Amino acid sequence: MSDTKNAATNDSAYDVVVVGAGAAGLSAALVLGRARRRVAVVNAGTPRNAPAAHMHGFLSRDGMPPAALLEVGRTEVAGYGVDLIDGRVDHIDPGFLVHLAGGPALRARRVLVATGLRDELPEIPGVRERWGRDLLHCPYCHGHEVRDEPIGVLGTHPGAVSQALLLQRWSADTVFFPHTLDLTDDERERLAARGVRIIDGAVKRLVVDGDRLRAIELAEGSVVPRSAVFVVPHMVPRDALLTGLGCERDESGWVTTDPSGRTSVPGVWAVGNVADRRAQVVTAAGMGSTAAIAVDHDLVDEEVTRDVEDYRAAEATSSSSLRPAAHAVSLEGHRGSASRP
Ligand SMILES: Cc1cc2nc3c(=O)[nH]c(=O)nc-3n(C[C@H](O)[C@H](O)[C@H](O)COP(=O)(O)OP(=O)(O)OC[C@H]3O[C@@H](n4cnc5c(N)ncnc54)[C@H](O)[C@@H]3O)c2cc1C
Repeated sequence: MSDTKNAATNDSAYDVVVVGAGAAGLSAALVLGRARRRVAVVNAGTPRNAPAAHMHGFLSRDGMPPAALLEVGRTEVAGYGVDLIDGRVDHIDPGFLVHLAGGPALRARRVLVATGLRDELPEIPGVRERWGRDLLHCPYCHGHEVRDEPIGVLGTHPGAVSQALLLQRWSADTVFFPHTLDLTDDERERLAARGVRIIDGAVKRLVVDGDRLRAIELAEGSVVPRSAVFVVPHMVPRDALLTGLGCERDESGWVTTDPSGRTSVPGVWAVGNVADRRAQVVTAAGMGSTAAIAVDHDLVDEEVTRDVEDYRAAEATSSSSLRPAAHAVSLEGHRGSASRP
């Protein structure tokens, strides 16, 4: 990528440093670049959906490889003079000084954090290996591609029952494996009523053959043929930069933002999956755009305040320089009155 800098420069301040160049960060950078802001985007290059071959549900980009979307995005933002920097931000000082790991620091008037989230997966052999391929998490991203196939759902998370109830619409052959989950009678009834088969017992592994998922093997030895398996990962926001700056979190531990992505710390915005685990690619891009506009407004407010102060100072200077005679007269008068007995 010819427009990407391999090392950061610390020559002067940026209006905005964006951390993360997924859909959220790049979308924000595009809007800010077009608003003629001086912008740097620092990116560690590990977008969440990298394991998937195709991205779905983004109007006009449905089925595009995730990496291709980001490549187009990088080219677009570079066209507006945005600096793209390969690297990882280690921490951010208030004010703001954005420290790259093992590198220099970038001065910024505002920071926009779009670092995404981390998916923690259950420790079942085959799960990590097939993640994003035929071990899936999002019916809306991948359900259509596995419609009418034999689908399995792993009960490793309380949200798995809802996932199975949804997935039955994509495939009538959906099997729920409670694994370690204790199903309530109500949950069993809901699954049965919906036509979702339940197979109890601990899952031993995903059976993979010829680079394809073939089945789920249970600890007691039976093998249930499946060509796609869904799991609900434990989603952990990559929010260390935000919490390091003192951004408030809600009771579930996620950083709080207003509808524009503004955090509790003035000058700091958070967008995409780092702020909302539900954000799809198109939603993350929208959050980036919304935040960028709010950041630009915030910068303009600051600039107008400063301009008014400068303007008033200049007005005061010019009006005082236009009154030398009156000043002299008044001084004369003053001297005169002071000389009176
Ligand atoms: C397997 C899988 C498939 C998916 N498929 C779809 C789909 O088909 N359609 C859909 O809409 N959604 C899909 N998603 C969800 C999609 O991945 C997210 O909606 C999207 O990635 C969110 O974008 P983001 O910009 O918030 O974060 P990300 O895309 O994760 O980008 C964050 C970026 O920040 C960088 N970063 C993190 N920390 C730092 C740091 N300290 N310094 C510098 N850079 C940093 C990362 O390296 C990364 O490049 C899928 C998710 C998964 C897991």
